[in-house]
Amino acid sequence: MSNVRVRFAPSPTGLLHIGGLRTALYNYLFAKHHGGTFVLRIEDTDQKRYVEEAEKDIITSLNWAGMPFDEGPGKGGDFGPYRQSERSEYYQKYSAQLIQQDQAYYAFDTTEEIEDMRSRLQKSGNPSPKYDAITRMSMKNSLTLPAEEVKKRLESGEKFVVRLKVPRRETIRFEDDIRGFVSFESQGLDDQVLLKSDGLPTYHLANVVDDHLMGITHVIRGEEWLSSAPKHILLYEYLGWEPPRMAHLPLIMSPKGGKLSKRNADALGIPVNVRDYVKQHYEPEALINFLAFLGWSPGDDREVFTMEELIKEFSLDRIGKGGAIFNHSKLIWYNEHFMRKIPEEKLLPKVREQVEEAGYTGYSDEYLKEFIRLMKERASLVTDFVTYGQYFFEEPKVYDEKTVKKAWKPATPTLVDKFRNDIAELDEESFNAVILKQKLSDIVEDEGIGFGKLMQPVRLAVTGMGFGPDLFETLQLLGKKRVVSRLDKAVQVL
Ligand code: GLU
Repeated sequence: MSNVRVRFAPSPTGLLHIGGLRTALYNYLFAKHHGGTFVLRIEDTDQKRYVEEAEKDIITSLNWAGMPFDEGPGKGGDFGPYRQSERSEYYQKYSAQLIQQDQAYYAFDTTEEIEDMRSRLQKSGNPSPKYDAITRMSMKNSLTLPAEEVKKRLESGEKFVVRLKVPRRETIRFEDDIRGFVSFESQGLDDQVLLKSDGLPTYHLANVVDDHLMGITHVIRGEEWLSSAPKHILLYEYLGWEPPRMAHLPLIMSPKGGKLSKRNADALGIPVNVRDYVKQHYEPEALINFLAFLGWSPGDDREVFTMEELIKEFSLDRIGKGGAIFNHSKLIWYNEHFMRKIPEEKLLPKVREQVEEAGYTGYSDEYLKEFIRLMKERASLVTDFVTYGQYFFEEPKVYDEKTVKKAWKPATPTLVDKFRNDIAELDEESFNAVILKQKLSDIVEDEGIGFGKLMQPVRLAVTGMGFGPDLFETLQLLGKKRVVSRLDKAVQVL
């Protein structure tokens, strides 16, 4: 396919959420797969819901995730401007054209008048009254008022909206690249407002005008927009334009059932905003792989891809129709996978930040790199390093109760003491994992007991916990002074 142009068209109403990032990803992959263009368009026509920092957050998030856009705000391109708030003239022009063609009309009804109409119809048995082909003829609009009066009202600056004249009975069909043929009955549609009383377009008009003017060939967006598609198809038809191909992505579902919303995600401890993933130091590759699989699959059992591989493999026909369940543990699995591949050197700045935030300052790069090496195999997220490895920076304040019960027996203090005295004699250089292990082995052999009978108490005494990275490497990193004093303390306290 040549000249593929797709767009990610978020409304800047808040921080970018993972659902949005998935939409962006599928657009990005599709564009790059076809050697096409990925456009960012900011749909900021709803002034009431506009959030100042949102656009910046969207752009930062896309860049963090490794999917920079080719055209968009701040980047330029031949089809700008890329913010709808800067494109008013186009919407005015095409709404005027629709009115002139008698496919849209001015409406002057107040909110109360529309409410009245609705409640009147509800009382007479219509459960979902609309402003439509039937009711419009009893309302205040340019179809019912004399031309003179319409002119007067417009000239006097009276507030109005422009509505789409949706045909009474018509089946609107189109082919969705994921869902196949879909059809809607026009009776189900409202006479959609195209221009609001503040002069700004609604999403529907702006979206269609811009997709056309920006040469968008494929609209790839969430399923929640499917019900808007028939209105868009009508607009394309009335404006004499060929509609782009459309693909509506499956909903993202909560593991507990139902659509994943901010609310139920919070309850499950699932971060919703991309910014939260950045803050919690998720690896972008992990999130990208995870999101790629949230609706799409390569058709075989491969699970880990680079961005280049995803681009190569991606196609719309491998996207499912059914809701995609957000499995957080799968995301954690991806994060472990990618994080473990990152060299200690590269993780150092992030980990140092965590360590220092926790109040542990003054540690050398060498110390922290070794700390990272030891913790990496056990951590799922960069934030886990400090959470589970606090004992690398301060002596344990408490000892894990279960481990105490299991491992600290009446004979333990004597054994621990012995080990303490043996290792206290070692000089700097000999205080290393190999020799420490040997010292401990010697004791358990002499005593004729199992290795764990001494190893577990030592781990408990030094770390306060019953599990962790290799004990002897841990001891080596902590150094003699700290280890000896912790063993002493444990013998006293436990
Ligand atoms: N502005 C819409 C949104 O916030 C865009 C929907 C579409 O892609 O058409 O998601």
